[in-house]
Amino acid sequence: MTLHAPIPAPEKRPLTVRLATPRGFCAGVDRAIQIVERAIGKYGAPVYVRHEIVHNRHVVDRLKAMGAVFVRELDECPDDRPVVFSAHGVPKSVPAGARAREMLFLDATCPLVSKVHKQALRHQRLGRHVILIGHEGHPEVIGTMGQLPEGAVSLVDTVEDAERYTPPDPDNLGYVTQTTLSVDDTEGVIAKLKERFPNLQDPAADSICYATTNRQEAVKLAAPGTDLFLIVGAPNSSNSKRLVEVALKAGARQALLVQRAAEIDWDAVGPLRTVGLSAGASAPEVIVNEIIDAFRERYDATVELAEMAEENEHFLVNRELRNIALTHEDMAWVNG
Ligand code: SF4
Repeated sequence: MTLHAPIPAPEKRPLTVRLATPRGFCAGVDRAIQIVERAIGKYGAPVYVRHEIVHNRHVVDRLKAMGAVFVRELDECPDDRPVVFSAHGVPKSVPAGARAREMLFLDATCPLVSKVHKQALRHQRLGRHVILIGHEGHPEVIGTMGQLPEGAVSLVDTVEDAERYTPPDPDNLGYVTQTTLSVDDTEGVIAKLKERFPNLQDPAADSICYATTNRQEAVKLAAPGTDLFLIVGAPNSSNSKRLVEVALKAGARQALLVQRAAEIDWDAVGPLRTVGLSAGASAPEVIVNEIIDAFRERYDATVELAEMAEENEHFLVNRELRNIALTHEDMAWVNG
């Protein structure tokens, strides 16, 4: 009988994971999720939610399991159950419709989106036609346009749009932007508009939010020289898609949006030495950890932080829900 020595396990190759910080849940998303959870705690299931509360399947599925029912429009909700409006904001016609039906509704619009609504209304009050810089069809854009009467807002997306745009009165214009745009691209659109319309008025406060800005800056810091940059986020999440673009522009060899670790095609991404990792504002930290574990299974991975800023923002939930306690399990979810 011949004895064979045990075959040693192949050595894992070293890999550096640059973890962009801050990443993931922002204060507006955290608040919106808490509003749905607390509404279920206070009123029982089902609680209806108009549109995905945030653009993340994992979050939506978890809330469904707790008793949330997601609908596209208000007319799919019964009169006698509470309805929550998503963090992206809604046109004025939506709460008006709920009031007309005497429904109980809870508005989870992020306070920073509401701030943009106020800036658009301020431009209009001062007699200006409003230019909204944003992506056509995005729920936030639909909500912001719906704050003003039909025809009072024009949508401009790209520099090419800004070159072609014909305003009703070129000397009486004000702009606002979607909160989740690329900071750098938006500067280009604003510069083009100002070149054509020198009297174009800024909003009184920045429209692109702190969370979008910080996540993009952290990706810029982490991306140079990476073989792959993964952004955890949904294909319909505007801020997540912008992070993919930012990573590529900042020097990542390839950048991909992924919703779960199982989506990573390890053969297609090729050999890796340094990877970047971040998450859009609607992506929970549990999935970031799942992806780090997937790297650790295949590589001798070292995680280092690429930290740009510390975030301490918290937004209070609606007054009627403040005394509803979250369970320990809920808090673990929210905090990652
Ligand atoms: Fe609010 Fe910004 Fe988060 Fe959108 S990305 S919910 S605007 S904090």
